[in-house]
Amino acid sequence: MSEQRETLGFQTEVSQLLQLMIHSLYSNKEIFLRELISNASDAADKLRFEALANPELQDDDAELGILIEIDKEQRTLSVTDNGIGMSRDELIDNLGTIAKSGTAEFLQQMTGDKQHDAHLIGQFGVGFYSAFIVADKVTVESRRAGCDADAAVRWESEAQGDFTIENIDRAARGTRVILHLKEDETEYAEAFRIESLIRKYSDHIGFPVSLLDKNAEEAETKVVNSATALWTRSRTDVKEDEYKEFYKYLSHDFSDPLLWSHNRVEGKREYTSLLYIPSAAPFDLWNRDAPRGLKLYVQRVFIMDDAEQFLPLYLRFVKGVVDSSDLPLNVSRELLQQNPELTSMRSALTRRVLDMLKKLAADKDDYQKFWKEFGQVLKEGLVEDHSNKDKLAKLLRFATTHNGNDEQDQSLDDYIERAEDGQEKIYYILAENYATAVASPHIEQLRSRGLEVLLLTDRVDAWLTDGLSEYEGKQLVDVAREALDLSDGEDDKGQDKLNDENKSLLEKIQAALSERVEAVNVSRRLVDSPACVVASDQDLNPQVRRMLEASGQELPDSKPILEINIEHPIVIRLSDEADDGRFDALSNIVLDHALLAEGSQLDNPAEYVQRINQFMLGSNSGADND
Ligand code: ADP
Repeated sequence: MSEQRETLGFQTEVSQLLQLMIHSLYSNKEIFLRELISNASDAADKLRFEALANPELQDDDAELGILIEIDKEQRTLSVTDNGIGMSRDELIDNLGTIAKSGTAEFLQQMTGDKQHDAHLIGQFGVGFYSAFIVADKVTVESRRAGCDADAAVRWESEAQGDFTIENIDRAARGTRVILHLKEDETEYAEAFRIESLIRKYSDHIGFPVSLLDKNAEEAETKVVNSATALWTRSRTDVKEDEYKEFYKYLSHDFSDPLLWSHNRVEGKREYTSLLYIPSAAPFDLWNRDAPRGLKLYVQRVFIMDDAEQFLPLYLRFVKGVVDSSDLPLNVSRELLQQNPELTSMRSALTRRVLDMLKKLAADKDDYQKFWKEFGQVLKEGLVEDHSNKDKLAKLLRFATTHNGNDEQDQSLDDYIERAEDGQEKIYYILAENYATAVASPHIEQLRSRGLEVLLLTDRVDAWLTDGLSEYEGKQLVDVAREALDLSDGEDDKGQDKLNDENKSLLEKIQAALSERVEAVNVSRRLVDSPACVVASDQDLNPQVRRMLEASGQELPDSKPILEINIEHPIVIRLSDEADDGRFDALSNIVLDHALLAEGSQLDNPAEYVQRINQFMLGSNSGADND
């Protein structure tokens, strides 16, 4: 029945990834073995899982294990498992395409600089294709559990853009991956070398990994690893390096994790968790559909990858394992969702992660590493998880006017510590970027009074401030809101300046700008700028409005409030302006500049340019032009 040999092309992304991997991972070559053993161990895990419902799948070959065979004469290394195996279609899909969405965009970031690219590929996760770093040809023979021997398949490729696939006879269940080593990679057919790599990378795997040197005088198979799943061991027995290796095996990342926490919970509920905070964000951190979550085991039997129910979305960067003694072995994603056990496990695990971060925050440098990678994600927690608001708020870091640079490294506690006694508010401004925030007219008065302002420039900040209206009894205040009250500590002078003459000026400006502004007020927040726009307290923050509009949402029209610095020379000039046309034009320019300063787009830039041009030519009024 043997189906014919077929040659199929790799998906473009696979070809690109292969070339990049071979090129950029040259100094990390040996990780291929970890990746292949990791796949073999996953395959054994999956078989054990399917055999729960279907015991005959495992009947013929019950002891699960992984065998590495080396043959220096033939220049081959093979990794064989008796796990789940792959059918013809699965082989074509799994080893011919990359299912992760966003891969094409990711690959475009590659520059050809080895170090840079190696780092990026680390974020992507290397996997099976890393075999081609040391092999010029790879053969995979596989028989899916439950299929007949003559339905086995052979896949073969030289990484030159295509692979062949043909049906073969294979007595054994599972997969063998045969690496035909490159001429200068024969060290990977040396027993001592492979043995040390297995110990280094795969000691903690829950299945025996054996080695057979086919060229040895007395060729015998020996188990090399300790074959006890790492999380089942006592914390005191596990070395730091073993934790790090286990992380790499789990995550396919090849940087060390920043931190981990290994715990056994006993009592009413029993489970073990081993949670890691990575040191770098994965390439698809911002893809909401990207797989996330923990690897779930029940009584040491693997149940599923990416069990996302154990942690909230804002902790999606956490990697790890949870092994429960209480959940049923037949638990599915759907059942997990309804399981009452889960709610309490989820909140305990969430607290555990937040405690890890608190611990990490004790070291400023380490915490900054974390914050740069994952700070924006953590901020989502303020909206998503009200029960942990206080803990989360302590973990936030901001750029502020105190810093003089855009580094997000100040906590709310740092802010409060610096504030004068009696300052009951924490001021912040939302802006598109640091430059706009720090130069914003809205913070002039605060700055001149020495009041610190948080400079919030991440997209998520608008939601963050929605979720966090108060910290340690101090109110968080948006300095671009109409109702800003700067009476903290000092009397506010704004309204005192409002005499009859000013009043009529405001009315006149209001009349000139009636189409464009809701109201014109005397400002309490300006020092150097003539004007700024603010949002009324019911309105969306302008930064939020800009974001929603950019994402294509239709919003009801809303007009800003223009605030005037009554002592500013331009405003004085305006008040002296006798010509109505010029008064109108100048009022519009003042408003346009206030909008530009906060990062808004002008509705009609051409009109603005025309006004300015006319002023530059000294022929600014319609009346004058006649
Ligand atoms: P990853 O392991 O990150 O999913 P890989 O490129 O390493 O990516 O492997 C792709 C897929 O191929 C795996 O998800 C798995 O389904 C399948 N696969 C790889 N190796 C084996 C194996 N030894 N046994 C069964 N399936 C395997």
